[in-house]
Amino acid sequence: MPQKNFDPSNQHPRQEEFGFEVGTRLTAEDGSPMLGRTGVIRTPHGEVKTPAFIAVGTKATVKALTPAQVKELGAQATLSNAYHLYLQPGADILDEAGGLGKFMGWDGPTFTDSGGFQVMSLGSGFKKVIDMKSVDQSGPDDAVAPGKERLANVDEDGVWFKSHLDGTKHRFSPEISMGVQHQIGADIMFAFDELTTLQNSRGYQVESLERTRRWAERCIAEHFSLTDSREGKDYQALFGVIQGAQYEDLRRKACQDLGAMAFDGFGIGGALEKENLGTIVGWCSEELPENKPRHLLGISEPDDIFTAIENGADTFDCVSPTRVARNSAFYTPWGRFNLSGARYKRDFTPLVEGCECYACKNFTRAYIHHLYKAKELLSHTLISIHNEHFTVNLVESARQAIEDGTFFQLKEQVLSSYYAGKPDPQGQPAA
Ligand SMILES: [Zn+2]
Repeated sequence: MPQKNFDPSNQHPRQEEFGFEVGTRLTAEDGSPMLGRTGVIRTPHGEVKTPAFIAVGTKATVKALTPAQVKELGAQATLSNAYHLYLQPGADILDEAGGLGKFMGWDGPTFTDSGGFQVMSLGSGFKKVIDMKSVDQSGPDDAVAPGKERLANVDEDGVWFKSHLDGTKHRFSPEISMGVQHQIGADIMFAFDELTTLQNSRGYQVESLERTRRWAERCIAEHFSLTDSREGKDYQALFGVIQGAQYEDLRRKACQDLGAMAFDGFGIGGALEKENLGTIVGWCSEELPENKPRHLLGISEPDDIFTAIENGADTFDCVSPTRVARNSAFYTPWGRFNLSGARYKRDFTPLVEGCECYACKNFTRAYIHHLYKAKELLSHTLISIHNEHFTVNLVESARQAIEDGTFFQLKEQVLSSYYAGKPDPQGQPAA
């Protein structure tokens, strides 16, 4: 618990070792300023030019890719998961190794999320990930999927949860999460928050948001105390996490409360339906301090990316590019297609003509189709390289377009092609 006289709005002197500079502001066709912007995040392990897509390396590895491949495809930073690394191999192992970046052989900037999402989704999720589609606000606040055991329980001080690996019981609190994330040693960490779902009642959202605010103060107090006691380590930045589900007043209040605290940046978290994504990110961007970066947790679809950037998100992450790659799905400017189809058997063109990634410069659809069918692991690697490159590059193009004043032309051009719903136009279908 923080000491009685602790003021969470007071900055720590070492926060100067992290920085964010806003570059160009997005402007509407009539020249009026909008919420989107370019910028540069400065960390002890280098810069991140924003907007940027952060490659997800949940267990300290971007699945199927070496750090050299991740760097070559253009990713500037990686995001790992405190919950997973705490359970396996243990945060103390990463601490002894010299921190996350050193342990995984990645010399660029790193992020860790707090573990809150994973821990809480054990309790309220109907699957491993919460189903945002089935909105039923009349349901009980402690709904558990039929036939599923509740694996997490929240109280004022923190949360008890059972490991998904072996069922052992563990405790996360703001202080424990900060301790774990300091041991893991990423450049950017997230405060421990309570994740609610769209199934929770408004009354519960209000109660939960207050708890997340109290937890945010405790996270800052513990973070500053660990920053002082762990001398000789690089400064780790701490982002507060904005909850409040789909309620405008709750989201704005959360931004005002946490925006007044000495966080280095902010994460926009929790229950977001695709239809409300831009509106909710917009509310947050209007309220949060202009000079601090904003991370949006868990998006990668091209339409969501443009919406998020337009409404002021600076960085985002998502597991999709590598996850769908392992099921042979690949991104193209004309939509997402599945390489397992028979038409690719004799298609000797690259995944995407003109794509600059290693997979497209060196291999054909026919070859990668063969690898996938033969269950060769290289298919995962090559499609993951392409999909990560596609996503990183799309965000980089959006950044350039903000600089050039052509953002809305680019958005129209990309989305009208990606969502045209036409068959894959490239290559020669098998006879
Ligand atoms: Zn490619």
